[in-house]
Amino acid sequence: MSTVKDYFGCMVFDDRQMKASLPAKVYNSLKKTIDEGAELDLRVANAVAEAMKEWALEKGATHYTHWFQPLTGITAEKHDSFIEAAPDGGVIMEFSGKELIKGEPDASSFPTGGIRATFEARGYTTWDPTSYAFIKGKTLCIPTAFCAYGGQALDKKTPLLRSMEALNKQALRILRLFGNTTAKRVTSSVGPEQEYFLITKEMYDKRLDLKMTGRTLFGSKPPKGQEMDDHYFGIIKPRVQAFMEDLNEELWKLGILAKAEHNEVAPSQHELAPIYTTTNVGTDHNQLTMEIMQKTAIKHGLVCLLHEKPFAGVNGSGKHNNWSIGTDEGVNLLSPGETPYENAQFLLFLCAVIKAVDDYQDLLRLSVATAGNDHRLGANEAPPAVISMFLGEELDAVLEAIEKDQPYAGTEKMQMKLGVDTLPKFNRDTTDRNRTSPFAFTGNKFEFRMLGSSNSIACANIMLNAAVAESLKIYADRLEGAADFETALHDMIKKTIKDHRRIIFNGNGYDDKWIEEATKVRGLSNYRTTADCMPHLLDEKNVKMLTGHKVFTLEEMKSRCEIMLENYCKSVSIEASTMVIMAKEQIIPAMAAYSKRLAETASAKLAIDSSIACAYEKGIIKKLSGLCDEAMVKTDELEQAIAELDTAKDIVEESVMIRDTVLVKMSELRALCDEGEKLTAKKYWPFPDYADLLFGV
Ligand code: ADP
Ligand code: MG
Repeated sequence: MSTVKDYFGCMVFDDRQMKASLPAKVYNSLKKTIDEGAELDLRVANAVAEAMKEWALEKGATHYTHWFQPLTGITAEKHDSFIEAAPDGGVIMEFSGKELIKGEPDASSFPTGGIRATFEARGYTTWDPTSYAFIKGKTLCIPTAFCAYGGQALDKKTPLLRSMEALNKQALRILRLFGNTTAKRVTSSVGPEQEYFLITKEMYDKRLDLKMTGRTLFGSKPPKGQEMDDHYFGIIKPRVQAFMEDLNEELWKLGILAKAEHNEVAPSQHELAPIYTTTNVGTDHNQLTMEIMQKTAIKHGLVCLLHEKPFAGVNGSGKHNNWSIGTDEGVNLLSPGETPYENAQFLLFLCAVIKAVDDYQDLLRLSVATAGNDHRLGANEAPPAVISMFLGEELDAVLEAIEKDQPYAGTEKMQMKLGVDTLPKFNRDTTDRNRTSPFAFTGNKFEFRMLGSSNSIACANIMLNAAVAESLKIYADRLEGAADFETALHDMIKKTIKDHRRIIFNGNGYDDKWIEEATKVRGLSNYRTTADCMPHLLDEKNVKMLTGHKVFTLEEMKSRCEIMLENYCKSVSIEASTMVIMAKEQIIPAMAAYSKRLAETASAKLAIDSSIACAYEKGIIKKLSGLCDEAMVKTDELEQAIAELDTAKDIVEESVMIRDTVLVKMSELRALCDEGEKLTAKKYWPFPDYADLLFGV
């Protein structure tokens, strides 16, 4: 039997493969492109394509595809086979550098938010050599960026790469100021912790809501939920264990560093965390992980639910985005250093993040906004919609000392002047476990905890990279012109702490009092829904920052805002229509059928003895009849609300209608039906209930 070491990355054209199959000159030139972003010439591309093809054919591949991430949030691929007709009637297997570098899929069916006029349906994909090609099934997948013919990004990778470039540029300026002349590149890294649910395929197939929308739209709470706290880190059931083993093997073959796996808080909920890598590769890997989770589950007779809130009343699923920045020399810039000088540099990067999170709260919030995630944020299972930062007591004390020019009362008493030799050495604070904070410093990285489980992590990392690049730019502009570097540095750190103290909060983020303080006293923004936050993408300060760093053009931002709101409206509309069908065709008839059954029972009893009260039957019949009538009215109102969406003058107005009417009617209808479920005998209920779903595996 082969060991993990033997097969890890066997389906990836990784550095080992490149080194083994490419001439040294070609390899070095490609490496330069990968590591330093140098331009790639066609001769090199041809050689790489040839080697890649030979490797892929040997692995049994017949096709290749430019694998990309359009704004639908999932990945897209169009397969072309390697075959070319040969004059003798046979075929040869061909793949050129040109085909490797560029593809031209028809872009007309992908969301563009009005960027591309319909007559110009072409888009093109370009190879991203910083993310390795891999084989999935019989297809060589080449990670690519996807743009409209006019050059506008139509995907998530392009702005992510641009944001990484912006961060690299500004961070290098800062490093040079601290005397670092050797670092060539600064990269952001991410380790996303992925949560998901597993239910049986058999039960999934019986529920229209799960099939259409990925979540249950009806369902009353089971007698047992997560209150016993017996699932988190609990023993993994054999069937789930078999799934996880299979999943790990598939991920490892693709070079994905799947590392930790455990049960989560809710019944049937689990988590997988990989070892961190660059934000670009981490995003690609997370997309692949989600895809392979779903495929592997099916093989085991299970369905993997990635929706943020598949079940009401138990925790939903998120994705913790562990983010840090580091140099190509292996230095983590968010790690407190050994020397006071390193610590001053650390404090500056820390301040850059604090400033970024405060200045661009809205961008971070909207980067995680979807209809699904709106159900989690602020629901006492995930951070609130208000963004704040948790730094831990020790670091907080250091910042306070700097702000107030007071001695730091830590391990050593010292004056906090950020000169070369006066900064204390502080320990990495790894003890904090404030799980309620949306943005927590965890020793040498930040953990952004608002992301939804199904969403691409690209958007959150684009905003993070860009916002931090902006802080660093402001710092570098100031410091490069400073007469006295140390004084300027000290003043700037002090000013940042003073100006942005409001974003730092170490208390309980789930507490209502905090939301009150955050919004009323501190002036932090609280955008509860996607409809509330998304239009702020186009606020002047956000456009200025993102276009300034060339992460987006204004046109791209407008199109994204449009597409995100469209996605929100579409998701909720599909849910609403599914509810109408389920209520009309399944739930109300089930309640009526059970009432009829009770009525028959009662008349049978009365036929035997007319003095029997039949209080049970009469009582339930009365309640169910009332609920049926009300549910019917509510269903009509919901249908009406869906129909009225057509009158919206634009997508912003439609999203407000979704928020204020459709979602409200949906929850009213649900309440009636869930009440009916409790009164109806289980065998009359038309689909599996929460107990079946949550405890069925
Ligand atoms: P937990 O949060 O469950 O205690 P860890 O903090 O060890 O677990 O790791 C969670 C995730 O953070 C993992 O994906 C891990 O690889 C990632 N991670 C660890 N260090 C860093 C770092 N410096 N930068 C980015 N991600 C990191
Ligand atoms: Mg964590």
